[in-house]
Amino acid sequence: MRSVLEEVVRYLVIERLAGRSWALEVAVEYFIRNSSPSRIASKVGVSKYAVKRVIDSIRVKSGSHAVAVALVKALRPYVESVRPIVVVSDGGRPYCRLCGCYINADHQYAYQHVVWKHRDLVSRLTSEIVGALLRRR
Ligand SMILES: [Zn+2]
Repeated sequence: MRSVLEEVVRYLVIERLAGRSWALEVAVEYFIRNSSPSRIASKVGVSKYAVKRVIDSIRVKSGSHAVAVALVKALRPYVESVRPIVVVSDGGRPYCRLCGCYINADHQYAYQHVVWKHRDLVSRLTSEIVGALLRRR
């Protein structure tokens, strides 16, 4: 079974790899800076619904708000250092650098692409970050 730390790191690593780096930004704004979801939505440039989905995912995986705050603070620099693999091409379409192919423009699809096709990379990055965080304590 995955630990709480692993679950949250894995989730944010997938979002980051999928080119959804704003998920970490949402987490930082909400759990560290105490901004409201509507303020975050306009600042980050995504819908309030998308903001709430990120917040809920992290809160549910963390088990409590206090744990989420501690986790987001600790893992932020590590997740920020992960280089996204899904990037927006010149034509505006999402492109996977590793597969060398265009993928469906739907955000959820980019997330699923990373989960399905790059599971090993997700697992490796997640254990590297979890390992680094545990050694730091
Ligand atoms: Zn790919």
